[in-house]
Amino acid sequence: MPVPISQMWTVATYVLKQKLRGRKRYPFVLMLEPLFRCNLACAGCGKIQYPAHILKTDLSPEECFKAVDECGTPMVSIPGGEPLMHPEIDKIVEGLVARKKYIYLCTNALLLKEKLHLFKPSKYPAKKSITIFPFAAKVATNWPSMAFAKP
Ligand code: SF4
Repeated sequence: MPVPISQMWTVATYVLKQKLRGRKRYPFVLMLEPLFRCNLACAGCGKIQYPAHILKTDLSPEECFKAVDECGTPMVSIPGGEPLMHPEIDKIVEGLVARKKYIYLCTNALLLKEKLHLFKPSKYPAKKSITIFPFAAKVATNWPSMAFAKP
């Protein structure tokens, strides 16, 4: 998947700003995990091993925005758990698009058909993108010990 020139420019500008501020270490991509629940149960997945009370927990959109604003990276990756199981994932994505972030929403794609309509095209087509990245589905279908989790 090619990276848009606008994204390259935004990232280059961000890196340059960090260098001008004399920062040797700085965040590059925020991994925002608004929940750890998943509708798959892949062997070896560390996320779904959390205790039940943690698996029931969702970050609110406001908590997500606070983390994103504090971190300041131009790119935000949203893995999980399965992000499409979050009841307010559309609000979270909308808030990040409004903040002009480049978003990589990493889904196993099981809920994609049901949830895709929640995501509106960005107002900033040349600058912002949302990528639905179903790598986990590919991995899971090749994974002999894959099992479906209880809903
Ligand atoms: S799809 Fe991802 S989050 Fe879900 S169980 Fe598999 S590895 Fe874990």
